[in-house]
Amino acid sequence: MIRQYELVEKVKAYDPNADEDALNRAYVYAMKAHRLQKRASGDPYFSHPLEVANILTSLKLDTASIVTALLHDTVEDTEATISEIRDLFGDEIAKLVDGVTKLDKIKLQTVHTQQAENFRKLFLAMSDDIRVLLVKLADRLHNMRTINFVSKEEKRKRIAIETLEIYVPLAERIGVHEFKNELEELSFIQINGEAYESIIRRLRFLQKEDTEILIPEVIKELSDTLEKDGIKAKINGRQKTPYSIWRKMQRYNLAFEQLGDIMAFRIVVDDIGDCYKALGILHSTYTVLPGRFKDYISTAKPNGYSSIHTGLIGPKKQRIEVQIRTQQMHEINEWGVAAHWVYKHSESASTDQQYLKTSGKRFKWIRELLDILDNADNPQEFLEHTKLEMYSDQVFCFSPKGDLTPLPQGSTPVDFAYAVHSEIGNRCIGARINGRLLPLRTKLRNGDQIDIITSNNQQPSPSWEQFVVTGKAKAAIRRFVRNEQRDQFLKLGKTIINKAFKTIDKKYVEKELTNHLKSFNADTVDEIFIKAGEGQISFQHIVDVLTDKVDAKTSEEQLAASVIDKRPSKKFRHAIPIHGLIPGMAIHYARCCHPLPGDAIVGIVATGRGVTIHTEDCENLEQFKKSPERWLDVSWEDNGQDEVVKYIARFHIVIINQPGALGMLTSSIGKHEINISNLKFVNRTQDFFEILLDVEVVDTDHLHSVMGFLRSIPAVQSVERTKH
Ligand code: MN
Repeated sequence: MIRQYELVEKVKAYDPNADEDALNRAYVYAMKAHRLQKRASGDPYFSHPLEVANILTSLKLDTASIVTALLHDTVEDTEATISEIRDLFGDEIAKLVDGVTKLDKIKLQTVHTQQAENFRKLFLAMSDDIRVLLVKLADRLHNMRTINFVSKEEKRKRIAIETLEIYVPLAERIGVHEFKNELEELSFIQINGEAYESIIRRLRFLQKEDTEILIPEVIKELSDTLEKDGIKAKINGRQKTPYSIWRKMQRYNLAFEQLGDIMAFRIVVDDIGDCYKALGILHSTYTVLPGRFKDYISTAKPNGYSSIHTGLIGPKKQRIEVQIRTQQMHEINEWGVAAHWVYKHSESASTDQQYLKTSGKRFKWIRELLDILDNADNPQEFLEHTKLEMYSDQVFCFSPKGDLTPLPQGSTPVDFAYAVHSEIGNRCIGARINGRLLPLRTKLRNGDQIDIITSNNQQPSPSWEQFVVTGKAKAAIRRFVRNEQRDQFLKLGKTIINKAFKTIDKKYVEKELTNHLKSFNADTVDEIFIKAGEGQISFQHIVDVLTDKVDAKTSEEQLAASVIDKRPSKKFRHAIPIHGLIPGMAIHYARCCHPLPGDAIVGIVATGRGVTIHTEDCENLEQFKKSPERWLDVSWEDNGQDEVVKYIARFHIVIINQPGALGMLTSSIGKHEINISNLKFVNRTQDFFEILLDVEVVDTDHLHSVMGFLRSIPAVQSVERTKH
């Protein structure tokens, strides 16, 4: 276990301005907080945060990161709180510790390969500061180093798989290759210890010379060979790790004996032409290993990977693997899978070109991060300004089963529902977010667990379109509304035309309409219905066509007079039955008078939008007096088996201004299970409140019973129905 002064000295060695006092205080604070806690190894628990801090000194991280490492388990595992840490160590450290604690809370219940990528992205999205992620990686590294103390084999394996699936790629992505290789190795030993041992033995057998010395020599010779023929190349070499060898054996079904090369070299050249030229030079200079040549440039892998692979008996008579590619290919290969994913899911990036550009920008800085840390004079300043911006445009949410769904920032439960399945979207009526019932327009946050509540009677609401952000949800809602509207117009049109037949005392025969397609300027009978429903063709016009009067030009006035004449006398005789429909559809209720079933009503045709229903005494009808062709006789449909539809009724209520009066009113409304849809104060004096109250009622009978019980409330002075 590293000692307190050793840790401080280590930090001061690379950062002379390090805050020694903060380091010392964090050391003491964490040690006290973890007090008697023990690790599985029997060591004091405090040895763990201390080692995590120690690991991070190898990356030369700033004081805040080291302090965070020391404190990283205090909030989760001891009585320490974030606010206490904020008081003692300041905002920055509190935020970092909070970030690490939040990552700890993500439950990785279902780590299977399909989900792993989403989990990694959730991690990246949640650690908006790269230091949070680095602490978390060091934390995992130390836990993996001590994993043998975990007694259950099953648990060790699960942790190892999780490490391979989540942490290794994260370490790779942010460029901490030392962490990556060690994590990979430690996981491999747990998952398949036998294979690991065999590969190590085979490697020792093949490794006659020290690869540390050999690799630079091979690079030198390869680069000289290529340069002689005018090819400039950047060459990298590495010894393959047991895990990477194992993966290759699995993938290509190789036996240990076929395992010949333990070194791999990557040759990066200027353009595609040079790739093939370099290949030609190498193949004519060295012995080619049969069956190893793969051209992923002419045919890229499905994930976009492109490169040439070959195997040679290269310089120093060593069997080597060689990959040849351009710089651009290299960048896409290294970072492209993630970038590709981002591209696929962001609607803004519309072309491949754009994708290349953004992916390049997105990942470049992370790749360079460690170089900068190594060389920076002031790593502190650098880290303070380094925020993880990856996936900050996305949120990752859990299903109740623990699957992760990525969504664009600003998404709502409705977006989530549509992302899961369009039927779930169409039928969603509510959502539990982390167990709490919340409005469908709630903006989702990273790590939220969402349980969508569905009902077979539910239909998408046009109002959802105002808050959903995903294209899928938008398109589905629009499609539904469009179909629904068409349907409604069609139905309304059919009843209007039915009425026209009755008006001229003819039996309704749908077939007859086919003779009139031209007169209605329609191609199909359905189109006639829709036009009639939308108000594109007037009732009078329909009557005229059906009575073959269409060419006898009636003057506007005559037409108007005749309609007005007819209107009162014919009232309700052939009225068009209406019933409650979705707002914004073919039939809607005027907001000026709030008509209720039971009220005498009229319909006003709004061209292209169907019919608006007013009460017969609505003052706004005045303005339509001059366009009688827009009036339509309508009546409430008596349709018992239909679902109960609720309408808005508005009351003007005067209540005595006394403590609790308003509460009494609203709670007794609640007791009667009546929904308040709006409440507005219109006047407030010393003695009285005047309010406008909108409630949902079924019909005028219901309305009267509501008025009755409202009047029975002692504090209520008066209740009137109002249509304004
Ligand atoms: Mn820990």
